[in-house]
Formats: sequence, C-alpha cells, structure tokens
Amino acid sequence: MKLSWKQYDLKLKHTFRISRSARDTAPVVILTLEHDGIIAYGEASPSSRYGESVETIEAFFSKINLSRFDSLFFIDDILKYVDSISIGNTAAKCAVDLALHDWIGKKLDVPLWKMWGLNPANAPLCSFTIAIDSKEIVKQKIREAEEYPILKVKVGLDNDKEMIETIRKITDKPLYVDANEGWKTREKALESVKWLQDQNVVFVEQPMPAAQFDDIQWLREHSHLPLIGDESVIRLSDIPKLAQAYSGINIKLMKCTGLREAMKMIHTAQATGLKIMMGCMIETAVAISAGAQLSPLLDYCDLDGNVLISNDPFEGIRNTKGKMILQNKPGLGVTPLA
Ligand code: MG
Repeated sequence: MKLSWKQYDLKLKHTFRISRSARDTAPVVILTLEHDGIIAYGEASPSSRYGESVETIEAFFSKINLSRFDSLFFIDDILKYVDSISIGNTAAKCAVDLALHDWIGKKLDVPLWKMWGLNPANAPLCSFTIAIDSKEIVKQKIREAEEYPILKVKVGLDNDKEMIETIRKITDKPLYVDANEGWKTREKALESVKWLQDQNVVFVEQPMPAAQFDDIQWLREHSHLPLIGDESVIRLSDIPKLAQAYSGINIKLMKCTGLREAMKMIHTAQATGLKIMMGCMIETAVAISAGAQLSPLLDYCDLDGNVLISNDPFEGIRNTKGKMILQNKPGLGVTPLA
C-alpha cells in the first residue's frame, strides 16, 4: 500500500475575483494510492479561508500510515482514523477519501454512481461561474459561457449592480448569486437581496459572514429569495442549526472531508428540509468527477472548477452544456493526461 503526492499549479483562464480575494493560479495536491496493482487518485485543493495550504496538506499526508488496515474496503474504519489524525485539514482528508473510493470502484470495476444506485437522469444542470470583473471582461465571459444554461455570479464588492446589469443586457439565463460573506450589515444585505429579487435570480449564497448567524436569520425573515449557506456549513455537525437561517446548503468535498461525509450530509439535509447544492473549489477533473458521482442527489450543481482552468492534468466526467456526463468508467472515472 503506497501513498505519494504531487503539487500542480492550476492556471485560471481569467483572474478569479470574489469578495475576499483574487488569484490567477490555484495550487492543488494530487494524491496517488497504489495497492494490489491498482492506481487510484485523490485531490486536495487548499483554501486559506479554512486554514489550509499546500504545506499543511503535505504535512498531513506524511502522518498517514495505512499499514494497520487489513483491507481498503474498510473505508469507514480508515476514514475515522484519518479524521482523528488532527482537527481541520479537511481538503487533505478529502484527498484520502477520494483515493479510497477510486480504488474500491476500480477494484469492483464499477463507477461510484452505479455502486450507489444513482440514476444519472436525475442530475440537475451545472452552473458556470462568472467571477467579479470589469464590465468589458464580464461581457467577454458571458460570451464564452454561451453553452452553459445557468450562470453563477460572484458579487459582494462595490459593483454588484453593474455586474448584474451587464449580464442582463446580454442574457436572461437564470442566475445563482454568491456574495461570499461580502455584505457586512443586515441593511446592506436586505437592500441587495430585494433588488436581486426582480432579476430572475434563483437564490443568494452566503450573503453575510458566517459569524453573523442572527443577521442572516433576520435577512431570511425579511426577504423572499432562498438563501443558501456555504461558508456557514463545513461538516455534518453544522447542519442541524442551519435550517433556521437557510433554505439550503452548499456542500463541498474539500470542506467536508470527502464523498463519505458528503453522502451523510445530503441525507441529513434532506431530513431537515434543506435544499442541497454541491459546489467546488478550483480543482482538477479528479475532485470534480468525484463530486459529479453524487450529482443525481442534488438540487443545484455547481461543479465547474475545472472548466475555469486551462491546464487540467486529468480527464474525467465531462461537462457538456452544463450536463455532467456520468460514464461507465470505474471509480471516479478519471485518467491522468500525459
Ligand atoms: Mg460560495
């Protein structure tokens, strides 16, 4: 049983600007698990918002010792052990979860969606993200996104109206709007949400900082657009309290430690009446294809991290006109490119 890893610097096609940051490249770490003649892949995409970096991920990987386990099929035992190594480090833990699932799928020669009995026909269409930019660049991005039927728009700086009005001059496609905690007062958030209500917006994601839970609850009571929590929800244990402030949650494999916990979160959210969205970080086809395996269980799909980059080192589940094409390839369904 051998684990090895390698850093890749993903190049964004456009500067990726959200309310709290802007970047042109995104480092990720690909984890390779070799056992019994099978090579399996996982991925960690670190977010400083959650305290991770390439360094913390590599340090975490060096602490893992899987030799104590008799079988890689005992994924529940293995992931409990991996989770116990340290607090946090969710993207690093996710890489291990993905590699184990990929290995099991390859060993059984079955794609994960099929192993879980999920019907690809139930998967919602995937949105395409337009990050914050100038009018001219936004126009260019809208043209480039022509094939995608739903747009997700980043807001939360001082040009929200300009962003939306620029888009609305070109297209009437449904919009998901993500403020990434950018509106700092309840009054500002309410004014923004009320304006967006008339713009064919489906929902607003993370309007205010996660720490302002009472303000978000107040916002929900005073407006009509559904609110989706993203930065407010990291793992399974966050879900029960969220139904008081949100209509749905954005699950990300990098926040929640991977597919196994994501599946538990989906069922828990369904039980509390929350809608389920799955999002992503800037990621390669490895993590995007992993998320896509669960897409038939989602209400909203936002797995476009690898279509925003120009140098994906893997080939996997393809996104064609917003449809994630679940193929018959075993495990995560990914292959490294030469
Ligand atoms: Mg978000």
